Amino acid sequence: MSARNLILLVILAILIALPLLHADSGPYLIPLEGPRWNSRTIHVHVSGGQDWQQNQTYLAMRIWNQAQLWFAREYFPNSSVYTFEVGDSSAPVQVRLLNSSIVIGSIQGWTDYHAQNGIMESATVVIGARNSPQAVLILSVHELGHVLGLSHVSCCEKDLMNAYPVPDSASPLPTTLDLYAVHILASSERVPNQVLLPKKIPYGSMPSSELTLPEMPDPLLLLVVISGLLLLRRRQLTR
Ligand SMILES: [Zn+2]
Repeated sequence: MSARNLILLVILAILIALPLLHADSGPYLIPLEGPRWNSRTIHVHVSGGQDWQQNQTYLAMRIWNQAQLWFAREYFPNSSVYTFEVGDSSAPVQVRLLNSSIVIGSIQGWTDYHAQNGIMESATVVIGARNSPQAVLILSVHELGHVLGLSHVSCCEKDLMNAYPVPDSASPLPTTLDLYAVHILASSERVPNQVLLPKKIPYGSMPSSELTLPEMPDPLLLLVVISGLLLLRRRQLTR
């Protein structure tokens, strides 16, 4: 088996195994930021960074879109969901990928939002792009979770809405707790301070098999190609 195939296999195995790694115990609780969006379609403009970094943020938008659809199908058929769409420079959500040294230490992404009377009007997201592709993806999904109105979970270490998502072992897939909270934000007139996952909904990441992303192979292939090149280079250096 070539090194390239082996790396692809390992990545796939990790993606499949991640939902099984959630062994945290309840209560499954997530505070909300407060405001919610009036519009069900949220336009996002992504700037800065390189193409592959921007693609991770686009992938994060598709993950949220598909995760909400899966959750609605599974637990709340015909309920409202938010849809992230790519917008222009006047979009209410601006995501900036930053390569500069402003991103220090563990603070590698943050979200500021502007709200009025409990309604989200705009959000600005900054994401440190000096990270691995997997970390840029997780940071993007995490910050977009804040854009949707989620705060940080207090229960679950591996939840991507943990205050310090673990870039190389956390799953980039939202959990049923994250998705239930987004469901509450999308379907309630009054937003509670926090959301408790009902007992009838088991806690865990959405199954990766439910993701149908036609573009999924691109970042994966890119990851494989980059890893392959690094391996080759390392081999050449040690010769
Ligand atoms: Zn955060």
